Amino acid sequence: MVTEVFADIYRMEIPLPRNPLRAINSYVVRGGDRWLVIDTGMNRSECLEVMRAALNALAIDLHRTDFFITHCHSDHIGLVSALKTEASQVFLHPRDAALILNPNLWGELAGAARAHGFPDPDTAVEQHPGRRYLFRGHPAFAARREGDPLPIGQYAFRCVETPGHTPGHMCLYEPEARILFAGDHILDPITPNISGWDGQADPLGAFLKSLDKIAAYDVRTILPGHRHLIPDPLRRIGELKEHHRVRLQEVLTLLAREDQTAYQVASRMTWNINYARWGEFPVSQQWFATGEALSHLLHLEQTGRIKRHWEEGKARFSLSG
Ligand SMILES: [Zn+2]
Ligand SMILES: [Zn+2]
Repeated sequence: MVTEVFADIYRMEIPLPRNPLRAINSYVVRGGDRWLVIDTGMNRSECLEVMRAALNALAIDLHRTDFFITHCHSDHIGLVSALKTEASQVFLHPRDAALILNPNLWGELAGAARAHGFPDPDTAVEQHPGRRYLFRGHPAFAARREGDPLPIGQYAFRCVETPGHTPGHMCLYEPEARILFAGDHILDPITPNISGWDGQADPLGAFLKSLDKIAAYDVRTILPGHRHLIPDPLRRIGELKEHHRVRLQEVLTLLAREDQTAYQVASRMTWNINYARWGEFPVSQQWFATGEALSHLLHLEQTGRIKRHWEEGKARFSLSG
C-alpha cells in the first residue's frame, strides 16, 4: 500500500510475514531529478515483491535513487543490495556500518549471550532475523553523521544521531516542514527494543538521552519505521521514558530477592507477548527479551545502583550497597 503522507513523501508498507513487527514503513521522497528511499525491508521475496510494486506505481527510476538507512537492522537495510544500482548512494552511520561489516559479529554475540546465562545462544543466533534476512554481499556505504545535510527536492533534511536502539541509529529532520523520519528510535504503540547485546556500554542511557535530544526539536509529525505516524511527539517521548522508568524499577525489585543473570531477570520480567510462560517463548523472543533485560541492567550498573560479579563464567547482578 502506497500513501502520500506529505507533499512528495510517500509511505510504502512492506510486510514482514511471521514477524511480530508485522510490517515496516519504507518512505520515498521525490526530488527534482532524484529520489530518496528511507529504509527498505528484509532481504526476502515477500518484501521485494511489495517494494517493487510500490516503486513501479510511483514510476521510480532506481538509477536516480539514493537510500538513507536509519540503522543496521535487517528489516531496514536488508533489501538495499537488491534495490540499489551503480548510480545509487547508500547513506548509513559508520558505527552501524562497522557492526554489520564485523565478520565475527554473530560469534561475539553468542559469546556475550552465554556469559549472561543464555542457555542456547547458538540456536538463537542461527534463527536470528538479523542474520537470516540480511543481504549477501555488502553495498559500499556513504558515511553520514550528525548535522550532515541531505537535500532532496523541496526538503532540506539533516542527519540527527540518535544512538540507543543501535549505536549508529540516525533520524532525518526537516526544520521547515517540522517532520522527522525516526526509524526505530520512536515508535507507537510498540516500544523500540533496546538491547544490551551490541557492545554499547549503556544503550538504554544513550536511548534516553536521544529521546531528550529529539524532545528539544520542533517536530510536528514523526514518520516512524513501524506502525502509525505520530502526530504528538512529546506525548510519545514522555510515554517511552515512563515505560523505561517502570521497567528499571521492576528489575530492581527482582534483584532485591537474589542476585541473578540477565537471562534469569528476563525470565521473571513481565512481557507483553502471547505466551503464558517463559518456557513457551520461541528462542528468538527469549533472545530479544534477554537483550532488553540486559540493557536495563547495564543502565542500573552504569548509574551505580547495581553491581556485577562473575560466577562460573557468568555475570550475576545484585543491588549495590
Ligand atoms: Zn531496529
Ligand atoms: Zn525495525
